[in-house]
Amino acid sequence: MSENVIRCPLCGASQSSLFDRRKFRGELVTNRICSRCGLVYQSPRPSDQQLASFYESEYRQVYQGSQGPTQKDLATQAGRADALLDFVQLRVRNFARHLDIGCSAGTLLGRFRGHYGCQAIGVEPGKAYRVYARGQGLTIYPSLDAMRAKETEPFDLISLAHVLEHLPDPVAYLARLREAFLMPSGWLLLEVPNLYAHDCFEIAHLVSYSEHTLGQVLQKAGFGLAAVQKHGQPRSKILPLYLTILASPRSELSRFGEDQIQPERFVGMKRDFGMFRRWVMQRFFPRQAWISV
Ligand SMILES: [Zn+2]
Repeated sequence: MSENVIRCPLCGASQSSLFDRRKFRGELVTNRICSRCGLVYQSPRPSDQQLASFYESEYRQVYQGSQGPTQKDLATQAGRADALLDFVQLRVRNFARHLDIGCSAGTLLGRFRGHYGCQAIGVEPGKAYRVYARGQGLTIYPSLDAMRAKETEPFDLISLAHVLEHLPDPVAYLARLREAFLMPSGWLLLEVPNLYAHDCFEIAHLVSYSEHTLGQVLQKAGFGLAAVQKHGQPRSKILPLYLTILASPRSELSRFGEDQIQPERFVGMKRDFGMFRRWVMQRFFPRQAWISV
């Protein structure tokens, strides 16, 4: 059954107010905004057990009507992998080991391996996708715990493309990645939908990030930001649908307590303005605003 989120996933406050409520593919999806820090998160949300079984099999069925990769999905992943490689290769010259969490068909791993010649390891809970990615000659595990038993060396790059918004406790998750799996000199690559341009409020999206709240989550998890990009690739030439961030572990891990979180203000107004801008762009520049795959 779905459960109420008692504390804000970023600052821990219990006060929140209704931000958005809508039907998504037959399910009622309710998002609330934290009264203290301005983070937007789904509550009530599906339970951990529901989420686990959802990602093992139903997720792809619900989202694309098929459990395995479709041509459309593979084309989108290829476009996204190209854009992410462009973003990273400007900033990171070389590295040896890459872990992609939620690696899907393995397209991003394949692109990075082709460019950097690095070892490519993936984690993917969806069975049909895991089988497909293994067919590309990649090493894929169903979970981080399963991977940990086999892969003992830390990674130079850990990427999560369109994954973080699906996780109920992003701060603890990223802190664990930093402590257990990432080299101190390593990189974290993230991409999430942008609350101020993307529809965002899907049943599987547990947290909806702005550039500000994502930055706060990273700081609290012990990361410093190296680069941020707002863009629409591969789906739009002009709308900032996605936030892409490159971060690295902070060397000085002074405690980043809940009282140090910088709240975000006027989140509702920014969302309304962003969605209005999107509507205008789609109306007057439809071919630049949305590129069909
Ligand atoms: Zn909060």
